[in-house]
Amino acid sequence: LLISFEGGDGVGKTTQIKRLATVFAAARIDYRLTREPGGTELGARIRRLLLHGGAVDPRAEALLYAADRAQHVAELIRPALGRSEVVLTDRYLDSSIAYQGAARSLGAAEVRSLSEWATGSLLPDLTILLDADPSVADRRTGARGAKDRMESEGAAFRAALREQFLALADAEPERFAVLDARRTIEEVAEDVNRRIAALLMA
Ligand code: C5P
Ligand code: MG
Repeated sequence: LLISFEGGDGVGKTTQIKRLATVFAAARIDYRLTREPGGTELGARIRRLLLHGGAVDPRAEALLYAADRAQHVAELIRPALGRSEVVLTDRYLDSSIAYQGAARSLGAAEVRSLSEWATGSLLPDLTILLDADPSVADRRTGARGAKDRMESEGAAFRAALREQFLALADAEPERFAVLDARRTIEEVAEDVNRRIAALLMA
């Protein structure tokens, strides 16, 4: 099974995915925790280029994310799935569709097909979308002192981002679980566990 966590910056993806990993460990379910960008050695280099490499043209940016994802799928995700591990990834293709496709205005359909080409059309079995108003996320990224690029992005960017994530969830309701990320960490985690239990039972 491939499970992705998605949403804008500061909604709690990393916190929740780590908690889920401890639940899997306690249940002795074989899992692999990973992230994008940066899930492989090449990906870590691409991540540094993307986040600290200076100005990047939007199309070049989209291709770098796609390259990261192609390597991630080929080197880590498909082999782990082949060993029947549950793969938990902190971001996957929906992030590209929302960030590069919508917020950077490259077009959701184009960015999606780029990602499908990069991954050989490997889609998650479940995508947990953590949804919150950008102002909620702001308080969190501010609290952890994150120097995310998003901090310098405007309100319009983040509104477009959130809207695109929600549109993706609307279009594929059987793949997505949209969770209200304004609640406490414990409340969201309980919700995540319920969705995962339902998936494992199916
Ligand atoms: O989720 P994480 O904090 O690792 O993301 C790193 C940065 O990359 C964030 O600032 C996020 O906004 C950005 N990002 C992006 N496009 C993606 C994925 C992440 O701009 N497809
Ligand atoms: Mg994170």
